[in-house]
Amino acid sequence: MRKRLIVSAASALSLFLAVPASASDFQPGAAGAGDAYYPTYGNGGYRVSHYDIRLKYQPATDELEGTTTILATATQDLSRFNLDFALNVSEVRVNGRPATFATSGEQELEITPARPLAKGSQATVVVRYKGVPSAVKRYGFTAWLRTPDGAVAAGEPESAWWWFPSNDHPSDKATFDVSVLVPDGNQVISNGVLTGTSSQAGWTRYSWRENKPQATYLATLAVGKFDVTADTTPSGLPVYNAYSKDLGDNADAARASVERTGELVDWLSGYFGAYPFSSVGGYVPNVPTGFALEAQTRVFYSPRQFARGANTSVVVHELAHQWYGDSVSLSRWSDIWLNEGFARYAQFLWSEHENEGTAQELADYVYASHPADDAFWTVKPGDPGPDNQFATAVYDRGAVAIQALRNAVGDETFFRILKGWPTERRYGNATIPEFQAYAEKVSGKKLGDLFQTWLFTAAKPVTGPVAPGVAAVAPAPGADRGDAQPPVEPKSWKKIQETNSLHEAGH
Ligand SMILES: [Zn+2]
Repeated sequence: MRKRLIVSAASALSLFLAVPASASDFQPGAAGAGDAYYPTYGNGGYRVSHYDIRLKYQPATDELEGTTTILATATQDLSRFNLDFALNVSEVRVNGRPATFATSGEQELEITPARPLAKGSQATVVVRYKGVPSAVKRYGFTAWLRTPDGAVAAGEPESAWWWFPSNDHPSDKATFDVSVLVPDGNQVISNGVLTGTSSQAGWTRYSWRENKPQATYLATLAVGKFDVTADTTPSGLPVYNAYSKDLGDNADAARASVERTGELVDWLSGYFGAYPFSSVGGYVPNVPTGFALEAQTRVFYSPRQFARGANTSVVVHELAHQWYGDSVSLSRWSDIWLNEGFARYAQFLWSEHENEGTAQELADYVYASHPADDAFWTVKPGDPGPDNQFATAVYDRGAVAIQALRNAVGDETFFRILKGWPTERRYGNATIPEFQAYAEKVSGKKLGDLFQTWLFTAAKPVTGPVAPGVAAVAPAPGADRGDAQPPVEPKSWKKIQETNSLHEAGH
């Protein structure tokens, strides 16, 4: 508290000295991006176009030292602005001049530049820091996962705080350069393309570049000892996969799944349009967690995803996110269905392709296997609340909603929507109402009732996602349609369910 008071005084003083005439117009940027689910995540008053993250990491001690340079543009007259970060900061400069800084809340870094930033002006923000990320808990957890030979940063919605300062909200996407110095014999995995490595005096630097806009939670970092496979897809896209050398019994199943990345991304392109990024791949570090995460161009998989053999379904899910979530990103976390409903639906399409149950059979099965009084139906996939953001209903009911849409508009129109949306919105952000408007435009149909029924009602819809030509059977009063006939479990169902620990970031 005392520190903050000092900073406020310094801030007021610098304002007075720098721009006395218009000082009152310069205000602090908001401490959050305005997200109803996570009010303090992200910040207001500026937009980031690029992160340059330069780190030195010692796996033996988990010591991380870094300098992150942020290119930003002020969107208001700014006297002060926040970044989201959790490690100890030693110095901040804005446009070359030392800036005053302080911390507040769980992850707010408040920066007062020596000269306030006029709306529309560009700012280069340099933050120097160090810490032991695994020892830093925020909201009771750390998204920094230690492994026997290194560490991994992966988590949703928050993982950036433990390795780089950012405007941590998917509504502000930027390009990334990530360059990490590690002791010789270790490797560094991150997003995009490996642009170079160099060694000197016992340390090796790995430099990665993601040249397309990327949400902060989709930036990933892994340090450890990996077996790497580098190849190109049949369509010519570079593929880079990495597997910890100590995956034990899961190693072969992991490879039998993730090595199919190139094939599967080309298959998905048939449904979603051209792949939006310059590289693709996945990595499987030796972490004790169970989740997977659609890190941009470089999917994070926990080894547990492969504990019962190869699982192409999870690979399809995470690769589907490269279109639905990574290229077209959320404007607000409440619209998580735009990511998870479609990634789960891609698993349905893969099941159909593999002759393990059609999307319609899977949708019917989900509908029938949850009785009306099941808590499953109390979660609204279109607005599940922060505690249920990654609830099964967001995925399963979310995918049934997409099958209902397919049946309402017909296959030809549906597949035009499925491909047209990520093409039209490539590299941008979107909301569910915008998706609904797009689907209505393409189909020429009013879809408000369908969206209300499947996404925004906390109850089991009276009729299922009925296939064309199949009459909807109205349930007898007081009866539940799902009880009338025991649903037949599609062959793919167990594999799809095995992926249900997706995105639970361990907290
Ligand atoms: Zn997902």
